[in-house]
Amino acid sequence: MVNPAPGLRLAADADVCAGAGQCVRAAPELFDQDDDGLVVLLAADVPEDSRARALDAVDLCPSGAIALRGHPAPPAPDTGADRLPPGP
Ligand code: SF4
Repeated sequence: MVNPAPGLRLAADADVCAGAGQCVRAAPELFDQDDDGLVVLLAADVPEDSRARALDAVDLCPSGAIALRGHPAPPAPDTGADRLPPGP
């Protein structure tokens, strides 16, 4: 199983979708279209290796029907605390 990028989530609004299909072409693992051509979200949590394609899909969507929310958590700073000997 592919782990999603932390905090990176997609939303799609079929009521706004114009059925252009750009999202499916950009990221077929994340989007599909129903019988009317409207967007169907296949995965709300974006896997790490789909991040660039998810961004492309959002950029290419002509109607603003899809959005990407959240940001990957920054790596925890290395304070060295885990290497200190136990205190008194
Ligand atoms: S690119 Fe946008 S308008 Fe086109 S199918 Fe996908 S969500 Fe709908």
